[in-house]
Amino acid sequence: MTTLPRATIAVAAVFACLAACGNPEASPAPPPSSTTATSTTTTSSAPPAPASSPPASTSSSPSSSSAPAVPGGKVVVLDPGHNGGNGSHTAEINKQVPAGRGQMKPCNTTGTATNAGYEEHAFTWDVANRVKDELAAKGIKVVMTRPNDTGVGPCVDQRAAVGNQAKADAVVSIHADGSDSAGAHGFHVAYSNPPLNAAQGAPSSKLTHDLRDGLKAAGFATSTYIGTDGLSPRADLGGLNLSERPSALIECGNMRNAGDAGTMSSSDGRQKYADAIAKAIMAYLS
Ligand code: ZN
Repeated sequence: MTTLPRATIAVAAVFACLAACGNPEASPAPPPSSTTATSTTTTSSAPPAPASSPPASTSSSPSSSSAPAVPGGKVVVLDPGHNGGNGSHTAEINKQVPAGRGQMKPCNTTGTATNAGYEEHAFTWDVANRVKDELAAKGIKVVMTRPNDTGVGPCVDQRAAVGNQAKADAVVSIHADGSDSAGAHGFHVAYSNPPLNAAQGAPSSKLTHDLRDGLKAAGFATSTYIGTDGLSPRADLGGLNLSERPSALIECGNMRNAGDAGTMSSSDGRQKYADAIAKAIMAYLS
């Protein structure tokens, strides 16, 4: 928070992120989609999962190539953090919504940005779409929590509802953090803890570990400033608290760190994140 006085937007974003990037989600009470200009449940243009098409080569054994075989009919909800219109709709975004465990939190936040002004919502939108394409190519049905990067919200509780209503086999929220602590860098994966239901127990733990392992295997460094070995138990994240499906939230890195920002700001870097995330999700589903 020793924020360098950049554009006020950037400053606000930093605060927003410290307060909410880690806890970008909020809660359930489905306030009518009023605030959310965007409709939540858009079945991504992802090719519907041919319910019968067992992916890949040999019957049950994962193909020896990179991606493990995933049984047909799987549904994945991808939740790109924040939204492009949040910054200009503060009233809607600051509205308090239930966030689980009796907490109330703001509907959503603006997210953070790199020092050069590359905003988190754009990063998460881009990475999520790359992941979506890779999963869809494997016959997995992908549902996004927002249909574009120009809308407002949805609120965290509505985002959680998307995963619940889709009966998702996995829900993955994609974010980036914003910390001005010297040298702070690296990714971490957050999960609801203590778990509030069965899905938040072993299934979410496995999803979290698969994502952590996949990002590490792809060469991404674990966070130097949050969590332990890339894992971060959280009780304050609405999206995770309210989920009734296996869920995890990835903070891909620290946008205020030059190294992480460089990777996140490049197309190649975002593809590297997407490849690792998609592969980890497929490993989880296989
Ligand atoms: Zn965020």
